[in-house]
Amino acid sequence: MDQITLDGLRNSPVQAFQHLIEGRHVHASDGGQMNIISPIDGTVLTTTAKGTVADMEAAIRSSRAAFEDRRWSGQPPAARKKVMMKWAELIEANALELAVLGVRDNGTEIGMAIKAEPGSAAATIRYYAEALDKIYGEIAPTSSDVLGLIHREPIGVVGAIIPWNFPMMIGAWKLAPALAMGNCVVLKPSETASLSLMRMCELALEAGLPPGVLNAVTGEGAVVGAALGQSMDVDVLVFTGSGATGRRLMEYAARSNMKRVYLELGGKSPNIIFADAPNLTEAAKVTAAGIFRNSGQVCVAGSRLLVEASIHDDFVAEVVKATQAMRVGDPLRLDTDIGAVNSQAQLDQNLSFVETAQSEGGQIVTGGTRILEETGGYYMDPTIVTDVKKAATLSQQEVFGPVLAVTPFTTDDEAVDLANSTVYGLAGAVWTSNLSRAHNMVRRVRTGVMHVNTYGGADGTVPLGGVRQSGNGSDKSLHALEKYIDLKTAWIKL
Ligand code: NAD
Repeated sequence: MDQITLDGLRNSPVQAFQHLIEGRHVHASDGGQMNIISPIDGTVLTTTAKGTVADMEAAIRSSRAAFEDRRWSGQPPAARKKVMMKWAELIEANALELAVLGVRDNGTEIGMAIKAEPGSAAATIRYYAEALDKIYGEIAPTSSDVLGLIHREPIGVVGAIIPWNFPMMIGAWKLAPALAMGNCVVLKPSETASLSLMRMCELALEAGLPPGVLNAVTGEGAVVGAALGQSMDVDVLVFTGSGATGRRLMEYAARSNMKRVYLELGGKSPNIIFADAPNLTEAAKVTAAGIFRNSGQVCVAGSRLLVEASIHDDFVAEVVKATQAMRVGDPLRLDTDIGAVNSQAQLDQNLSFVETAQSEGGQIVTGGTRILEETGGYYMDPTIVTDVKKAATLSQQEVFGPVLAVTPFTTDDEAVDLANSTVYGLAGAVWTSNLSRAHNMVRRVRTGVMHVNTYGGADGTVPLGGVRQSGNGSDKSLHALEKYIDLKTAWIKL
């Protein structure tokens, strides 16, 4: 990556963003705007439209009309594929600009953002573009006087509500399969990280996506997000974010048109280290990265470290060493390992979790405080808390920040019991050289994803989804397409 270009983009003025409705930039109906604060230094970066209920309704009307006149689903698959491939190409061509814009908006360190945001978004869009002309209907094995056909049809209007930690990556996980299957989408990005995703939507139009097929409305979740959730004209809601909002979306669906709701929620993912792990030094480094990259604002972050008691002290010392070697600071520096916390509110919440952990008997072995306050930005020293009990707040509640809870165990059964002792079930890991133990732990720990002798890094070929209160349905892989397809039977008497 070219450092000069990066530095050039660092201070470049950022346009004011409006909604994208029917292929046009549209101001909020009442002219409202929101200031977008950069977590790098706490200054105002730009503004976005502060959407109203009327704005959201206009976007939904536009997507509905686009779906009904089949301007997208009616095109030959090869034509839709061409548009989506072009979209991926444009994202790659603008990768640095998109990544820097996103980092200035949400604080993720650039080294991670460049791969995880434009890189991953382009790969996801290409994956579903390539898949879209390989999805066939079926012929049922009926008796010979009947023809039973199973059609796969787009569902209609998809509402997609996206969080702030990886807006482009998570945005693409929803938009790409939904559009690939011929649906139309209304997108609601997060109020604290919408810029790169809005820019990505502009590129979709440039690639040839017909106006109205993808509309995007910025604004507050409680206003425009709620209007999307409560709409009688949205068929599916796909969401990544907090459990509290997920609960509301289910309520909105029940109170309106019983739209389908697919939720990707938080986690409290266990990272389980056995004394027979193949390489404890490597495990310690990956453990630190697995919780602290992007300031812990990763849904699958390994936020609970469960360590076999016989190696507890030595292993914790290794993780502390690896953590203290990570550089926290300006996310636009290429040598930064941990960038900024997304907002003042998130930083305050992280610090209050640390206070509670101490009051419940946890011992802070490194970190625990805000740092670099003189920059005006929101930075937190990565924090490790030991002696965290099974029932402690830090074991049970998601921080979504750079805070690692450490708990020892002595037997495999105890490790499983601790791992399964929260309401969540998103991700986890087991580190061991024992093949049977590895497979048994994968089976017994109730999560959507289990890593063995690593943490994180799964690519687009495998599903990501939570079980229990971490959500339902999956993003990524061909399985994600199921959320965006209706099966229709044609029963034909011959
Ligand atoms: P959040 O729930 O506060 O916000 C997510 C989105 O929902 C935002 O766009 C927001 O505007 C919108 N929203 C808020 N209130 C709403 C309402 N009443 N009606 C409709 N929409 C509303 O979550 P967040 O703080 O942006 O993200 C952090 C959370 O997301 C964490 O809990 C994290 O674990 C989770 N997350 C999960 C995954 C996953 O794949 N499972 C990935 C990333 C983040």
